Amino acid sequence: MQLMLQEILESCKHLTRKGQVAQYIPALGDARSDCLGITVIDMNGHVFSVGDCQEKFTMQSVSKLITLMLALIDNGIDGVFSKVGMEPTGDPFNSIIKLETLEPAKPLNPMINAGAIATTSLIKGSGTAERLERILSLIRKLSKNPHISYNERVYLSEKETGDRNRSLAYFMRGIDIVKGDVEEHLDLYFLQCAIEVTTRDLANIALCIANMGKDPYTKEVVVPEHIVRIVKTFMVTCGMYDASGEFAIRVGIPAKSGVSGVIMACVPDRYGIGVVGPSLDDKGNSIAGIKVLEELSKRLKLSIF
Ligand code: GLN
Repeated sequence: MQLMLQEILESCKHLTRKGQVAQYIPALGDARSDCLGITVIDMNGHVFSVGDCQEKFTMQSVSKLITLMLALIDNGIDGVFSKVGMEPTGDPFNSIIKLETLEPAKPLNPMINAGAIATTSLIKGSGTAERLERILSLIRKLSKNPHISYNERVYLSEKETGDRNRSLAYFMRGIDIVKGDVEEHLDLYFLQCAIEVTTRDLANIALCIANMGKDPYTKEVVVPEHIVRIVKTFMVTCGMYDASGEFAIRVGIPAKSGVSGVIMACVPDRYGIGVVGPSLDDKGNSIAGIKVLEELSKRLKLSIF
């Protein structure tokens, strides 16, 4: 496995020169575009890592999976899906257009920004600090890394420039999807996006999802199985934004990407995978990261379809 990952890394490295690092959150623009890292962890806990695996990256949209888990734990299935839909979208992740034109008026799914802000608004706790701590504590448990925290610079940078997300949130308060203090919900959303992880952290989280929410070693239930099933399904249908269909055909495993260049993917009952490559395509997905997963899937026959 280690040798194969090294080969894949070398064959995909040139793709880090294609595309662009996300610039619309200014602090993300500083990332080294030539980074590429892969970690695969199997059900026996063997860890295989190559490339830039020590470096931390912000989770960005990958955090949407975790907040969906918490919102489902806090509000139940009906409570969450009365506010956000279950259908994929052909629009970009930060699009506002369908919020006004769809009937009933609610975000299409919890993986686009509008849906994720709505989901985050449902997380319980008194005040931002307590609600953030609940998100962090679930991520620390899933990743087995008690040191996980957020990057203050990326958080402040998005908070300062996140007018598009701000407008989505206020629009949703106008149509009764988001309730309460919009600025507090937005603050929590920007914080969750700025939580920092390595590819190993991502692979550990994915491993628990691949094992239906149970820690594969201790067998402890970290997230209830019915919730993991929902989250994993969204990874397949909406995890790669409006490129999820192509990804399902080319790679064929549940995955979620973030605009920092991270991708978290799981192979049910087999592997947890974390990949990073900050240079993105025009849909906001890591170009080299997708290719790495495609190669890995081909060689190990990972497609679930
Ligand atoms: N923080 C980013 C945003 O809200 C997350 C988007 C993403 O990773 N696609 O725009």
